[in-house]
Amino acid sequence: MRVRKPALTAAQRRAAAAAQARRDCQQGRHSTTPTFRPGEQVCLTCGVVIYCPGCLQANGLRFPQVAHAYTLECPTHQQRGVVPL
Ligand SMILES: [Zn+2]
Ligand SMILES: [Zn+2]
Repeated sequence: MRVRKPALTAAQRRAAAAAQARRDCQQGRHSTTPTFRPGEQVCLTCGVVIYCPGCLQANGLRFPQVAHAYTLECPTHQQRGVVPL
């Protein structure tokens, strides 16, 4: 015998999705989207900025001046290694 579960409302589904997204962020799986600056991404869920210092430097851009920013070298700059400033 199958028990039919009550359908979630749209608000409940949104809340569940938001909770899952926050858990993903805590585990380092951010839902990043590229910004208009090459080598820089922003997480739409928690707002953290993730950038490749090599890409920003190569384009003459300043590093993001935000509270929550992390560096993550893109494949190109990972292979070359990070040049110390
Ligand atoms: Zn995030
Ligand atoms: Zn890069």
